[in-house]
Formats: sequence, structure tokens, C-alpha cells
Amino acid sequence: MFDTAIAGSLPKPGWLAETHKLWPRWKAEGDALAEAKLDATLLWIKQQEDAGLSVIGDGEQARQHFVHGFLERVEGIDFEHKVEMGIRADRYKAMVPQVVGPLRLKGRVHEAEAKLLRAHTTRATKFTLPGPMTIVDTVADRFYGDRVKMAFAFAELLNQEARALQADGIDIVQFDEPAFNVYMAEAADWGVKALERAAQGLTCKTAVHICYGYGIEANVEWKKTLGDEWRQYEQIFPALAKSSIDQVSLECIHSHVPPDLMALLAGKDVMVGVIDVASDRVETPEEVADTIATALRFVPAKHLVACTNCGMAPMDRTVAEAKLRALVEGAALARERWAGA
Ligand code: ZN
Repeated sequence: MFDTAIAGSLPKPGWLAETHKLWPRWKAEGDALAEAKLDATLLWIKQQEDAGLSVIGDGEQARQHFVHGFLERVEGIDFEHKVEMGIRADRYKAMVPQVVGPLRLKGRVHEAEAKLLRAHTTRATKFTLPGPMTIVDTVADRFYGDRVKMAFAFAELLNQEARALQADGIDIVQFDEPAFNVYMAEAADWGVKALERAAQGLTCKTAVHICYGYGIEANVEWKKTLGDEWRQYEQIFPALAKSSIDQVSLECIHSHVPPDLMALLAGKDVMVGVIDVASDRVETPEEVADTIATALRFVPAKHLVACTNCGMAPMDRTVAEAKLRALVEGAALARERWAGA
């Protein structure tokens, strides 16, 4: 009851990359960098286990950014000539690579860290990939001229890597689609279909993470404009409920998402965000358990997974460690309360 997991990313140690940044510069290169990435992955596997999480991830230590880490292994993308682009409906500017030709994988994307993860934990494993709609919103198109066409081209490549991750022994493959919360009508129209294409044929569990973004300044400011009730999920969840995806990860604690929207995901596992990634204040186990209790009004206990609101990449490392412990302690308290109820 109440599995515990992270959304995906964890802070990179200062010896691996710049800290507190969303697009950090690496501190090494070549073979030394490849080795350092795996060392950091191993460190976080241990930290997650010690904190007591039941689902373990790679903490995204081997990718500079959750989208560009995948794109670096795709042929047809020009990383040499990045251009500035407004992303997530112009919420912030980023330097992004350009799609200049037909897309093809150069080979495996995450083989080393997936195999390392599988080899060093006996617990359930989760691996994250960017979703097709979020990718097309984080890259400049100079070739396809059509967002949907390009999304399905990426979905095919994602599917290739997802199947390989499954073969590596990964138990849950999750696609991150923060763009769903920005382009709700398009998400319900073709975003979910592109996502299903990415997950096609997988027999392991499949998941999608939909959030209001990392705890960076631009996102914090954007959230202030969304009003007292954030109803974005209301437009997407019905399409997801009908989809083949098994699990949905959403923001809950300290968000303005009306909790009753979780009821729209009947039949799905719901990864409820019980840890705020936009604040350094560490939650108490009671706060976590209270958030789980709120979710239990709309999600059956057997379908509830306690999770973080989003990735923790730009956070302070010690704060992230403390938040992992709070997540596990809060879930344990919720289990006790549930058993006693
Ligand atoms: Zn997120």
C-alpha cells in the first residue's frame, strides 16, 4: 500500500555539474564524464534506498536536461547551432537545438544508467523519458513544418528506447509531459495519442508525469497567473483515463489543483505529488500523510503512489535528501492511519 517514488530528477553533485541549474555545465568530459555520471547515479540509488523509497530511479544524473539528454542521441538534430526559442507558450526563453533532417536514433540513449540501476537495486525501478509533445515544444523545427508529424516521429524513437529499457529490466517507463498543462486542447486531441505511440507494445508499467514545471523563477511567476483553481488537468485527464497508460503523476501539495480532479483518473494508478519541489522547506510526515488523506477521498488506496510534485534537479542536494525521507515517513504514517481507520 502506498508505494513511494520520485517524479524523476535529483540534484547533481557539485563534482559532476554546476549545481542549482536547469541546464548545468558538466565538470568533466569524455570518459571521465561518463564515469562520473554513473558514480552519481549509484550514489542516488543508494540515497533513495536508504531513505526507504519503494520505487527507485536513476535521478537523471546522466542527462544535462530532461529533454536534451534524449535529443543528443538523435540524428537529424543540429546541436552546434542552437537558437533562442520561447517555450511552454513563451513562458521562458531557452537555447534549443534545431531539427534539420529526418529523425533517427544514433543508438541506445540510456543503456548504461538503466543497466546500472537494474544491477544495483532489487526494488522496483522507474525510468523517465520526455514525452513527444514536450519534446516538440523544446526544439526548433526547420524540417517537418508540422508539430503533430514531428511529435509522432519522436514518439517512434521514444518507443524504440522504451522497449530497450524494458528489456534492460526496468519495471516502469514514464514519459514526462509538462506541455500537456499548457496546450490542453492539443494534448487531449493528439498529445495523448502520440504518448500512446511512444508506449506502444510495452508490457512493463507505463506512466506519464504532468506537472506545472520545476521550481524555477519563471514557473513560480507563471503559477501566480493561473488563479485560485488550476483546472488544466480537467481537460486532459478524461483522454488519459481512456488511454493505455497505467499511471499518472500529478501535482498536489501546495498547488491550486482541486483534488477532486483526481477522480477523473478512475482505473489508473495515481502518483500524487506530496512533496513540493518549489520550496526548500522540508515537509513534515504529518503534512505528507494529510495530503495522502486528501487524495484518498478520490483515489482508491491500492491505486495511490506517494510521489514528488516534479523533479528536484535544480534543488539543494541536502534539501532533496531530507525531502526523500519526509516522503517515506509521511507514507508510513498514512499507512498507519489507514490501517487504524
Ligand atoms: Zn515535472
